[in-house]
Amino acid sequence: MKRTLYKNADWIITMDEARTRYRHGDLLIEGNQIKAVGTDLEKSLAGTVDIDEVVDASGRVILPGFVNTHHHTWQTLIRNIKATQGLRLEPWLTTMYEIYKDLNTDVARAGIYASLGDGLKTGVTTSNDLWYPHPVGVTGLVDAEIEAARELGIRFHPVRAYHSVTSDIVPPEVVDTTEGVMADAERLVKKYHDPSRFSMCQVGIGPSIAQYETEEIVRATVDLAEKLDIMVHGHLAESQHEVEYTIEHFGCRPVEWFRRHDMLGDRFYYAHCIHLNDEEVELMAKTNTGISTCPISNMYLSSGSCRVPDFLRAGVTRFGIGVDGAASSNSANMMEEIRVSYLLNRLSWGDSSANAEDVLYLATAGGARVLNRDDIGYLAPGMAADFTLMNWSQLQYAGGCNDPVDCIVLSGDARMVEEVVVNGELVVHKGHLTKVDEEEKRQYVTQVGRELLTRASARIEGLKADLC
Ligand SMILES: [Zn+2]
Repeated sequence: MKRTLYKNADWIITMDEARTRYRHGDLLIEGNQIKAVGTDLEKSLAGTVDIDEVVDASGRVILPGFVNTHHHTWQTLIRNIKATQGLRLEPWLTTMYEIYKDLNTDVARAGIYASLGDGLKTGVTTSNDLWYPHPVGVTGLVDAEIEAARELGIRFHPVRAYHSVTSDIVPPEVVDTTEGVMADAERLVKKYHDPSRFSMCQVGIGPSIAQYETEEIVRATVDLAEKLDIMVHGHLAESQHEVEYTIEHFGCRPVEWFRRHDMLGDRFYYAHCIHLNDEEVELMAKTNTGISTCPISNMYLSSGSCRVPDFLRAGVTRFGIGVDGAASSNSANMMEEIRVSYLLNRLSWGDSSANAEDVLYLATAGGARVLNRDDIGYLAPGMAADFTLMNWSQLQYAGGCNDPVDCIVLSGDARMVEEVVVNGELVVHKGHLTKVDEEEKRQYVTQVGRELLTRASARIEGLKADLC
């Protein structure tokens, strides 16, 4: 197996348990794994290991690859349109579902190229996707996105989600049957799910918002997840409306509803988790339920602010950051999401807010824990070779390179991301994707997105203006 030494990085930020940092550090990878991390590795390993390639990492900071724990990749084609701007979650969703009726496998592929391409170029090496509307009669959406993610070379955790009932928001055109969902999820798991170490694809299942679905399909979801030993993912307590709905219909708040339905614990992780009281914060910690905070989306939809410092103080370690769908975040730029996460914490929680290193934990080791991965998220021998080289030796960062983590979290942006390695393979070189032709994909995404909105504009009056 090929051995590559990344030599003399200004800093290596491991994000291991002790949060070890190496000044003038070296990282040796062997195949898809990290062989060694430290200083002066050439000297300490001399005579014991043959090195095939040496990469000069001076002027760079090496970080673990980011783990994006919540996403809706197809929404990349439904962003920056006036028809959906300025709305809160529920009215926003009503318009979105009109567009969702036209989802197809081209949208699935195009969504991956644009969103996970953006993710990779901003340091993401592992990404979730929660795909919930499956138009009746349309199959293969998750298959198409898995195949496209494979082309890009990113680790992928797709979730086969669903709707089981119509509502003011959800039209009958995107409602699944319980049998259909379970059969499709089981098929996907058999075809693509790899539970082994260094797996590139792990399939999950989940309701978009569980308490809006039938009790039957929620029970079947938990049973199937246990049977197949896969994870369950969805949204939880994103809006105040959701809290009021759950109290009105079930006499309890959302977290209690999830507890009653055996949906808290190691197997589960949920996006947003904004409207939780003190007892519910404690319960998330006690049950070891995973959380993905999505600050830009929460700001865009005026949903509220996740209690990040309270969750950390309560001992929640399965805690990550998600970029959420671009229809409510307008990009999949993880560097931006990290910076905004820090800033929203400061705005919302003042003196008790999380520090820059804690926010970086959410984007790396914490996110890996959310996905129950023990092979990614930090840099150490035996871990997957998933990392980024951040070029902080550029004019725009000059004067701010005092502490590497502060510089990356507080001043960093996508221009910093120079090289990205996933599973030992270079997938971003000098800021560009290596495994696909970016211009060819850009043209494909543009065309598919245009077709999607054109079809939907026949039903949404306001959307026509966006297509001028
Ligand atoms: Zn979401």
